[in-house]
Amino acid sequence: MLTLEEALAGILAALPAPGSERVRVLNAFQRVLAEDVLAPVALPTFDNSSMDGYAARSADTASANPHQPVSLRLIGRVAAGEHFHGEIKTGECVRIFTGSPLPAGADAVVMQEDTRVEPQSPDEIFILEPVKPWENVRFRGEDIKCNTLVGRPGEWLNAARIGLLNAVGTGEVSVNRRPLVGLLATGSELKEAGEPLLPGQIYESNRAALAPLIQNAGGIPKMFPIVSDDPEATSIALEKAFSDSDIVVTCGGVSVGEMDFVKSAFEQLGGNLQFWKVAIKPGKPFVFGRCGEKFLFGLPGNPVSAFVTFLLLVRPALLRWQGAHELGLPVSPGTLFEPLENSGSRRHFMRVILDSEGGVRSAGIQASHILRSLASANGLVDVPPQTSFPVGSVVRVLRWD
Ligand code: AMP
Ligand code: MG
Repeated sequence: MLTLEEALAGILAALPAPGSERVRVLNAFQRVLAEDVLAPVALPTFDNSSMDGYAARSADTASANPHQPVSLRLIGRVAAGEHFHGEIKTGECVRIFTGSPLPAGADAVVMQEDTRVEPQSPDEIFILEPVKPWENVRFRGEDIKCNTLVGRPGEWLNAARIGLLNAVGTGEVSVNRRPLVGLLATGSELKEAGEPLLPGQIYESNRAALAPLIQNAGGIPKMFPIVSDDPEATSIALEKAFSDSDIVVTCGGVSVGEMDFVKSAFEQLGGNLQFWKVAIKPGKPFVFGRCGEKFLFGLPGNPVSAFVTFLLLVRPALLRWQGAHELGLPVSPGTLFEPLENSGSRRHFMRVILDSEGGVRSAGIQASHILRSLASANGLVDVPPQTSFPVGSVVRVLRWD
């Protein structure tokens, strides 16, 4: 049986190089950048004020205090979006606002709270506190220099990176294609939610849980109808899913039972099984197969097993398919409030609740059919075989929320 690392390495090595397309930056959220992006402008784009107040020469304010204010002559006003054409000389100041360009001659901004204006002489500004040279000034290029990198291939475009690309005026970027991911659920017992159940039937839930995970990993999920446990039906369904998708994720039908048809149907279509079974709990009977440049991820049917194997083995594959550099789940350290014990012979990825203070508790019963503990969990802790982590241990929590 493969280790998790061996399985993941095999999957990643099999994936093709990503293909790219150009999109508007406004549509590039949660896409993977495919090119270097250079800033066409600097940020800040010009020296500007970080305060509402008065632009002045700092030396003029050196002796100012509330009892003996310095008086400066107001020679103009520069609002955000305007440009002041004159130059400030000794003894002068210009009304300025946050984001307004710093007028020539000024080397500081006195904030409004440190000034006083008498109604009878509105053009005389009393400065109550000195300012240091360049105080309250934001410099051109101190954030981003013109023609420097603001994006690199492999970067995941989160909200802040989308904001940065817009801030430097980039309208379009090259991003990698998103995989179309076909989702199949197999099992003659499965019914669609909303339909009445006959004895022995259960509601299908894996496609619904996996589709948002696929989406969060940048993939485009496409749900196919439930497939009954029948070799013919499984072949037809797999063939259809493969013709419409880049990657097919199935759940159920990959165990050792005589009603498990996914592996044989895939081989019948010309697919090559790369491996079956990974030494983790939950999720041992995981299948990875290749059919030309398309890939099969056969997840176990138990909902927790499907969810966990998706996070550990399919999510990184979807990200790599898109050329992303960062493939792992976010990890947070946490301190155990209860022991976690794995008495079995496989690594157990246990469902936990990581609270906002860094405390970690078991999310409840860990069996692979227990949905309640999966629904209340927000992370997994990898507990090695025959190992118990006592209360107070610091553990690594793999988060998905
Ligand atoms: P299997 O992997 O097909 O042997 O299924 C293992 C267990 O998971 C069985 O109890 C199935 O009824 C259940 N199961 C399989 N697929 C699903 C699904 N899509 N939704 C909910 N439960 C499922
Ligand atoms: Mg089944």
